[in-house]
Amino acid sequence: MSNRLVLVVLGKQGAGKGTQCARLSERYHIPHVSTGDILRAAVKAGTPVGVEVKEVLDRGELVSDDLIMRLIEERLSESDAVAGALLDGCTRTLGQAEALENLLGPTGVSLVLNIDVPTELVTKRLSARRVCQECGTIYTDTDVSAVSGTCEKCGGDVVQRADDTPEAIATRLAAYERDTRPLLDFYAARGLLVDVDGDQSVDAVSDAIHQVLVERGLL
Ligand code: AMP
Repeated sequence: MSNRLVLVVLGKQGAGKGTQCARLSERYHIPHVSTGDILRAAVKAGTPVGVEVKEVLDRGELVSDDLIMRLIEERLSESDAVAGALLDGCTRTLGQAEALENLLGPTGVSLVLNIDVPTELVTKRLSARRVCQECGTIYTDTDVSAVSGTCEKCGGDVVQRADDTPEAIATRLAAYERDTRPLLDFYAARGLLVDVDGDQSVDAVSDAIHQVLVERGLL
């Protein structure tokens, strides 16, 4: 097994992948690689990729596997990813899972964490979610930073994501069921899948993940 710690974090939108990856990244000193964040940054900066994907993102549909794999390959070749990475929101389709296996080799993914949360709960969480446009910190609508619209960490604007509308949420959850759920079998067949109960406090979920990594001898 390679010493590089590459964790694929799966779960429905709103399961807490971003929140957990931000914490795990600090704890294990490996970068949090969110394809959604990379794409949103491209949209905000108005790059050619951003212009190409803006409407797809706003509708809550998936962008092409080819584009995602180009972004991932580029990001994983950066120097801070030598020790590993937390892949948040990628892989999302069987095509991406196969492409990642080809890119990193059969032992390249250390473990796959499936953060499991019931659909009714993620729908509620997504409707209440607010996010800092500068540093990406996630809030709920009743948090002080969300009410004031100013991030307590960096002073950036705290807004609702364009795809956290009821229509886009429904589209994204349908995409999860159609395209992403089959990945659970793909990774289970490789002995890489671990389910984590996401319907508990943020600390409890982080502790459960830590426990799994220790048990698997990955830390
Ligand atoms: P997220 O922040 O992970 O919810 O991603 C936001 C949006 O970015 C998704 O609804 C998709 O439009 C796009 N996206 C992010 N990651 C992927 C991926 N791995 N495959 C396809 N589309 C993606």
